[in-house]
Amino acid sequence: MIPAKILVVDDEIELERLIKQRFRKKILAKELDFIFVPNGIEALEQLKNEQAIDMVLTDINMPGMDGLTLLNKMTDIDQNLKAVIVSAYGDLPNIRTAMNRGAFDFITKPIDFQDLAITIDKTLEFVHRNKEQREQLQKALDQLRYQAFYDQLTCLPNQNLLLGRIRQCLEWSKQRLSRFAILFISLECFKAVKYGLGHTFSDRVLIEVAHRVENCVKPIDTVARVGGDEFVVLLSDIKNFEEVLEKAAVIEEALKQPFKVNGSLICSNNYIGMVYSNINYEKPEDFLRAADMAMHYAKKSHQITPVLFDVSMQAKTLDRLQLEADLQEALEKQQFFVKYQPILCLETGKVVSFEALVRWHHPKRGIVSPVDFIPLAEETGIIIPLGKWVLSEACQQLKYWLEQFKNYPPMTISVNLSGMQLADPNFLDDVDHILESLSLKGSSLKLEITESILVEKAQENKDLMTQLKKRNIELSIDDFGTGYSSLAYLQTFPIDTLKIDRSFISRLTEKDKNLDITQTIITLAHSLDLDVISEGVETEEQLDILRSLQCEYGQGYLFSPPLHPQDIPKFLAEH
Ligand code: C2E
Ligand code: CA
Ligand code: CA
Repeated sequence: MIPAKILVVDDEIELERLIKQRFRKKILAKELDFIFVPNGIEALEQLKNEQAIDMVLTDINMPGMDGLTLLNKMTDIDQNLKAVIVSAYGDLPNIRTAMNRGAFDFITKPIDFQDLAITIDKTLEFVHRNKEQREQLQKALDQLRYQAFYDQLTCLPNQNLLLGRIRQCLEWSKQRLSRFAILFISLECFKAVKYGLGHTFSDRVLIEVAHRVENCVKPIDTVARVGGDEFVVLLSDIKNFEEVLEKAAVIEEALKQPFKVNGSLICSNNYIGMVYSNINYEKPEDFLRAADMAMHYAKKSHQITPVLFDVSMQAKTLDRLQLEADLQEALEKQQFFVKYQPILCLETGKVVSFEALVRWHHPKRGIVSPVDFIPLAEETGIIIPLGKWVLSEACQQLKYWLEQFKNYPPMTISVNLSGMQLADPNFLDDVDHILESLSLKGSSLKLEITESILVEKAQENKDLMTQLKKRNIELSIDDFGTGYSSLAYLQTFPIDTLKIDRSFISRLTEKDKNLDITQTIITLAHSLDLDVISEGVETEEQLDILRSLQCEYGQGYLFSPPLHPQDIPKFLAEH
């Protein structure tokens, strides 16, 4: 058994002797281990060097650094560490200050040692339970992260992870350190196997394909599965184009060998599209798209030898350029509008917030989904004026509702933010200006940010979020579970709410392991004092499960799709 280690911070020498005497049995039985230091400065030294301290007992008045300052500085080293104050100055202001700074308990001197023993037990029990919960959460988060970056079936990296690796290769090739190539592979037999023999067999073929392709490449290369029957090989360190052709030929040969399925042998043609790092693209997505296009070209023209991408295949890209040009004008021409999707309290069924979701009414294409134009708006920078417009529009709408539905419980508006907006130096001023001009309180506004955005520029974003919190603006982590899912970030950012991504909710059934993950996220979000919103609730069954898991809020087609503002009064009247 590892003894619980307690750091005692007190300038009174006599205390050391008394504690050693009173806790002699526990010390001998290796249940407790005490370390004594005379002031806050030395305590901080100990905490920095000695990882395994379980709790702190500290005096208030000490030379050098007092106990209240120690409480403040301690959390920088370990925010989960708990301290009990032991002081002769047990007056209310001191106790209040200590509690505000996160003290766990307060004992007055002269010390009643029986009381101290109980307090130590209680604190250690709390600390251990807390630690267990954190470990459990970390495990769930690790699992989430795995799901976010790896394909469950083949255990290969997925598109998410692949794009990151392509980005890395792109950096290296810009610095002329190395060249890379991407092979996009699609199997012709796949659909026939899947529909003819069923999922179990097609799954086996896919796993076999993964093995074969992996055996053809070097350990530094990446083999990813990006779709049903689609695999991508990223060759990371290439000398010349001949080498790419050789590798493609080896893979093709390996996949040509028959697959043994259900006793019979199945042969497959495969189509391979290639792209080499010498083309002038800036983004990992562009390279992947190019390789995909080359693969489709091969498929369409039934070329079973690998096809290299060239610009004549770029019809799709032209379409994109047109869309980009249209997007430039869309704001001016007032082609954007906002729909609102209610977020409900699962216990009472009342609406607590609306999420603002932008739409583009394109003159020729009709309504374009944000999934299609937000990435483009981000690439072109239009997201900055567009995001500001959405924010302003949504706040005006909320102001109107607050005036119209006076008897309704306080409502908030949730607005999505893109990473570029966070990096915009005018962002805070814009937020202030919008809120002030409408006399809206900060607490009426919720901002939704994905975890990957936060993590990218952690320090800058933390500062910005602190500024937002000063205005009482609420912060939600969007699409939780699809990114890094890091416990450290959850703890350090001043977040109020987690929105569990709808991919978890849609697979939520009693038997599914997503149920366990979702349950762990909810329980532990609560232990971090975060509320949980489940996205994409579509069925009563999901709702029942979420209620039983004590998820606070929900959003989804079961309650309502995103609505035009004019349809909101009717919806509110019914709820
Ligand atoms: P999101 O923030 O995760 O928004 C939720 C999306 O899920 C919305 O898609 C919503 O219509 C959809 N949804 C809601 N309930 C259900 C359901 O029960 N089942 C299913 N299958 N889907 C449901 P939408 O409106 O197409 O928006 C897509 C994404 O575009 C949003 O995902 C958000 O990331 C982004 N977006 C939308 N508006 C803005 C904006 O103003 N600024 C920024 N930066 N991004 C925005
Ligand atoms: Ca959102
Ligand atoms: Ca979301």
